[in-house]
Amino acid sequence: MHHHPENDPQYTGLTVNEGVASPPVINPYLQTRKKRQTFSSSEYAEEIRKGNITVLSQAVTLVESQKPEHQTVAQEIIEKCLPYSGNSMRIGITGVPGAGKSTSIDAFGMHLIHDRGKKLAVLAIDPSSERSKGSILGDKTRMEELSREQDAFIRPSPSAGSLGGVARKTRETIILCEAAGFDTIFVETVGVGQSETAVHSMVDFFLLIQLAGTGDELQGIKRGIMEMADGIIVNKADGDNIDRANLAAAQYRNALHLFPLPPSGWTPKVLTYSGYYKLGIPEIRNMIDEYTDFTRKNGYFDARRHSQSRYWMYESINEQLRNNFYQSPEIEAALKEKEQQVLRSEISSFAAAKQMLDLYFKK
Ligand code: GDP
Repeated sequence: MHHHPENDPQYTGLTVNEGVASPPVINPYLQTRKKRQTFSSSEYAEEIRKGNITVLSQAVTLVESQKPEHQTVAQEIIEKCLPYSGNSMRIGITGVPGAGKSTSIDAFGMHLIHDRGKKLAVLAIDPSSERSKGSILGDKTRMEELSREQDAFIRPSPSAGSLGGVARKTRETIILCEAAGFDTIFVETVGVGQSETAVHSMVDFFLLIQLAGTGDELQGIKRGIMEMADGIIVNKADGDNIDRANLAAAQYRNALHLFPLPPSGWTPKVLTYSGYYKLGIPEIRNMIDEYTDFTRKNGYFDARRHSQSRYWMYESINEQLRNNFYQSPEIEAALKEKEQQVLRSEISSFAAAKQMLDLYFKK
């Protein structure tokens, strides 16, 4: 407070009021925006490597953005994080809605963090436009315990788009998470469509959650998904459901014997557990450890990662070519007309395609 002689009790003239301090900026948006814009890709990468989760989240948002300027920064960040990535166990988790994915991830994740000292990132791939039967994959509210953990980073699926696009973003997010020190990555997907293939192409171990049903489980299972699984875990083996779960597990084991040995040389294991009551969780972790030891020794672990890197290079080329083609104004304009000509049988589909490609490449 300043001393003003005019405020002296002896003084009889006008008094001076105290001034007020300049009020703080109350629009928090203004500040975060300023902060964000001043970050260079090197600063992003540096903060990510320090384990700064806020910055990691912002970088993931850039990865997910469709804006070309965001994509440019995102690619730079990824490049800078790449040397610090790769040191994690990447685990794909799939199962139909209601199989208990979120309950299980919650239980399994808490086990990894508290009993094994891990840092866990939970990502998701869900390309369907209407979210899978009301459950947003990777939604924090579905993983109540994990969402309160400092050592857990939970990120829902990138919003709807082409499966390839959504999957690429998740794969890039894995790199950022690993650079931030997450040594275990879960990639969740729903076991109903093509997304398993995408998840399979970015994880080291693919876990299939199944339920004991009415005795004819095997009929409803897509053979392709079972063939991709490195481990099948039968959930809800609790209460009076234990016998049925054991029976289902035996049936899965028998079925797996009919499949040819996968390229890993590893015969997938089948376990029963209860995500809700947290029974049999360490056994799942042991199975994955065993698999890792086995495939590291026989060279498959690295071979799989290499072939995944190759796959993603070609996927990215394909995706960008496709996007570039369809986003070209000239093509967009001509495409509708060409489509009509095909529908009126004035031109064959193949000839129409060739004309469009000629138009595109001639530019
Ligand atoms: P998601 O759709 O695959 O993510 O499945 P949720 O984790 O949301 O689980 C679906 C329902 O099954 C919920 O009502 C869970 O409480 C229940 N559930 C999940 N795991 C278990 C379990 O181990 N035992 C029992 N009895 N119920 C479970």
